[in-house]
Amino acid sequence: MAPSTYSDALRALLSPLTSDQWVQCDSCEIWRRVPKRIADALGDDEQWFCNLNPYDYFNRCDAPQEIEDDEIDVVLQAQAAAEEYKLAAVERAAAEKAEKAAAAAAAAAREHVSYNMSVTDGNQTRRQFQARSIHWSPYDRVGVVNADP
Ligand SMILES: [Zn+2]
Repeated sequence: MAPSTYSDALRALLSPLTSDQWVQCDSCEIWRRVPKRIADALGDDEQWFCNLNPYDYFNRCDAPQEIEDDEIDVVLQAQAAAEEYKLAAVERAAAEKAEKAAAAAAAAAREHVSYNMSVTDGNQTRRQFQARSIHWSPYDRVGVVNADP
């Protein structure tokens, strides 16, 4: 499949080559290239004839086959490779998305931990402050020093 960096126009141009299917005429037995939706709609035992082809140049039994049989095989192989490439790209994108989600979750977890730590720090600071307050006494040395300069 064409890389997504290609323009829409170029991809539209390449699209039939990578998505069209080949069906055989039940009268002349010539292979015809048709849009995928037409091939998909055809039942296994359904008959198909050249005059049903929406591609005007190849919609008559006396029109030559568009390309040779072995060339059709090349196109089909290219299609299979393109499908594989597309699947791999989809898998890559899914893996990237999962990686990003995991990173975001890890970042959120870190933030939660640091929030907990700051709460803990606050408690410790308060406890330490309370401990100092408890030990403070008006009769400590500072008071004595001030009372007797
Ligand atoms: Zn035909």
